[in-house]
Amino acid sequence: MSWQRTLVFFLVCTFCAVGIEYVFNTSIGWVLLALACGIILVYRRHQAVRVGAWLTNIDLDPPADVGPWDDLTAALYHQNRQQKALIAELRQTNEAFMSAAMALPIGAVTLNKDFQIRWFNPAAESQLHLKVNQDIGQSVLNLLRSPEFIAYANQPSWPDPIVLTRSSGATEQRIMLRLIPYSTDMLLLITRDLTQIEKLETTRRDFVANVSHEMRTPLTVLGGFLETLMDAPKDAFTREQIHHYLNLMHEQSNRMQALVADLLTLSDLETSTSRDQEEVDMPLLIQNARQQIEALSGGRHRFEWNIASNLNLFGQSTELSSAITNLLTNAVRYTPDGGLINVKWSSDPEGRAIYSVSDTGIGIASEHLPRLSERFYRVDRGRSREVGGTGLGLAITKHVAMRHDADLKIQSKLGQGSTFSLVFPSKRVLIPN
Ligand code: ADP
Repeated sequence: MSWQRTLVFFLVCTFCAVGIEYVFNTSIGWVLLALACGIILVYRRHQAVRVGAWLTNIDLDPPADVGPWDDLTAALYHQNRQQKALIAELRQTNEAFMSAAMALPIGAVTLNKDFQIRWFNPAAESQLHLKVNQDIGQSVLNLLRSPEFIAYANQPSWPDPIVLTRSSGATEQRIMLRLIPYSTDMLLLITRDLTQIEKLETTRRDFVANVSHEMRTPLTVLGGFLETLMDAPKDAFTREQIHHYLNLMHEQSNRMQALVADLLTLSDLETSTSRDQEEVDMPLLIQNARQQIEALSGGRHRFEWNIASNLNLFGQSTELSSAITNLLTNAVRYTPDGGLINVKWSSDPEGRAIYSVSDTGIGIASEHLPRLSERFYRVDRGRSREVGGTGLGLAITKHVAMRHDADLKIQSKLGQGSTFSLVFPSKRVLIPN
């Protein structure tokens, strides 16, 4: 308590001055008292100046020994630190909210009551084609220029969303929008791009329709033969005829088995995460496929094999084997008798590994090339069925390629043959010692 100390000091000095005057009959005591008071005043002024200087930047440590100001500076300093901690905490919370809003996969736009844009996140930016520098402060009604949305926005409340179809260039976009009031007079516009979701839904529907269609044909044939055989009177067919019917039924059941096997492989590739990966002896894998394929060809084709013996891959051997065999099977299926099939496994100067299968077969017209790896896409459905195709081989191969960071490249000219290549990046390539 510095004011009490000052009071005690003043009382003691006054007592001394009175004592000196009484004993020595001189007023020197009063002169000394006045001097002491002057010194104290100057010292206090000096302390006040130091406190004033500190007040211009109270983030610094408060000045020491400022007498009566000590308590005040300590309290101010403490309060300042508490406020700064609170502000930092609020800023952090605000930043966390903002980053969450920015990372939302759905679009969010905040609007004032006149539908003027205050803020939007990147998803809304790309879905509504907004521009940060240009569109803040603009009315969303003018920017969207959709009579349906204007009618929607002018409703008294917005319990349901609205779906707008917008075309940008050749592509059509389907966007779901919903207004949600918040705070006293603010609005939140939520946007969601339905284009991809609807596309996926169509793909799923097409897939189910395709599978049903693929299964129905062999099942109808099987059912038909069985009925004929069951309903026919005894001895209506010769042994040869029965044998012929059984062969046809066997063919259909093989077709269904191949289809189911390919469907299972595809679904496994689409749903499972990458299985255990290891060093795969590619020359050995290709050698095993060679035996199968030469047996399938049955001497109808000529083969050339150029297989690098010291080139392995880091990957999954069952998946790689299925991709290698699919490309070879297709070359045999779509190359007429006497054609040449050239198989290469080599590395290029950039260290990539390339597996390629070239044939002198029927080739493919350029308009089909971009869609070849779609499920069930076939250039000639009848021909594919005739040679035992399921329409899933290239879809499987493409998936395997993606799971090994590889590219599936297709070059083909109608009537002149095709080359299918799998290009594996150098990070996947292993050179055995
Ligand atoms: P499929 O089981 O019908 O062969 P794929 O997915 O393996 O199914 O191939 C899709 C289509 O691509 C085939 O139906 C065929 O029309 C075409 N195709 C694939 N490989 C070749 C090739 N080597 N030569 C010509 N056409 C091919």
